Amino acid sequence: MFNFLKKKNGSRVFVVSIDGVPYSFMKEQIELGRFPNFKRFLDNGDVKRMNSVQPVISSVAWSSFMTGKNPAKHNIFGFVDQKPGSHDVYIPTAVNMTSDTIWEIMSRAGKKVFVMNVPVTYPPRHVNGVMIGCFLCTQIEKIASPSSVSDELKKMGYKIDADAWIARENLDQFLVEVNTTLEKRVEAMFHYLEKEEWDYFHTHIMETDRINHFFWEHMERDNPKYAKAFFDFYVRVDEVLGEVEQKIGDDVEFIVLSDHGFCTIKKEIYLNNYLVDAGLLKFNSSPPKDLNDIHPESIGYSLIPGRVFVNLEGREPQGSVPLDKYEDAREKLADVLVNLKEHDTGEPLIREVIKREDIYEGQNFDSAADLIAVPHDGYDLKGNVNKEVFGEKGPLVGMHTFEDSLLYIRNREIHKDRTDLWVGDLAPSILKLMDVPVPTDMDGVAVF
Ligand SMILES: [Zn+2]
Repeated sequence: MFNFLKKKNGSRVFVVSIDGVPYSFMKEQIELGRFPNFKRFLDNGDVKRMNSVQPVISSVAWSSFMTGKNPAKHNIFGFVDQKPGSHDVYIPTAVNMTSDTIWEIMSRAGKKVFVMNVPVTYPPRHVNGVMIGCFLCTQIEKIASPSSVSDELKKMGYKIDADAWIARENLDQFLVEVNTTLEKRVEAMFHYLEKEEWDYFHTHIMETDRINHFFWEHMERDNPKYAKAFFDFYVRVDEVLGEVEQKIGDDVEFIVLSDHGFCTIKKEIYLNNYLVDAGLLKFNSSPPKDLNDIHPESIGYSLIPGRVFVNLEGREPQGSVPLDKYEDAREKLADVLVNLKEHDTGEPLIREVIKREDIYEGQNFDSAADLIAVPHDGYDLKGNVNKEVFGEKGPLVGMHTFEDSLLYIRNREIHKDRTDLWVGDLAPSILKLMDVPVPTDMDGVAVF
């Protein structure tokens, strides 16, 4: 209670995260003179290409951001995960996260925190300040801690997320939706920036990812109507970044980052049917309804995106592969996966198949997929069981990429190159800036 008597140590940190904005895209556009504010940032600071996590899913990447840990430590392995001993899936939330976040760590160190909209912050955990949850929340009454903030947001007409279902019906209407959601977010950001005391302030813009999913190809193909709308949206994001950077002043650390890159989808690939064709997966009925229909003679199956599990005895509901045949089964699955090729051109579609022990380590290791198939850019790996192997894309025209997320830090040099810089490095970096001790179980390493 005598905190106010202590001299405050460490810097204040302001973070804007722009979901799914590729480093390469920003670089290219700045060279074309498109985003003047971001261009100005680059004159004062360092921007680097950064790696995401596997699988390349926002929920997984932001969990690694906020914990500084790999998925086997924070327990968020995908947008959907399977219930233990079952093929029933659930959407993991902050409840499933088995780690402290940097915001809880800062809070305990007496720092004041404001966090808005970062994926996997719902239900909002208690912090010394304000925590506004993410798109995993469907009721605005429950979005924030303390709950009085939920009421304020409701009054402001705050929107938790742009409704992607609109995009499936009407792209023009979705543009209105995504722009409105952005404006509401920006309004809330400036409102709380004025109102709250903070040592750490974080606004997450999800709308960039949303627009990328539905408009990336239209932008790349220079669609006469939608390319302009896409760039207008991004120009607005650039304006907001410029405005906020000026507002916070020079004595605050300023960080802008994304969690993955983006590319145009060439094809959707339904891995389970590919495994069926290869004789490694069987279903009881045809067409099967879902993974609960797996025949016990199966060797393995896939969960979106590219996560492949051995049908292991004792672990899987219809498991039949004995533990001493686990490595054989993994090898068979991996061999078949790397041989997945385009029908007509024979082009390989899988860049790499990763064994789980090569990227995951921690108390939830047993929940991880046995193999992760990493596609070449443009091949979107799906998990549905009742589709042909090669599917034409629908309204979703953009997909995530691993190596092309972006990290900008003002007035600092990032002492890591892009081959080992990853989104989990931010947690220890931020704590270090704030002069808060970094827990020893973090996997990330401070970038300065
Ligand atoms: Zn996305």
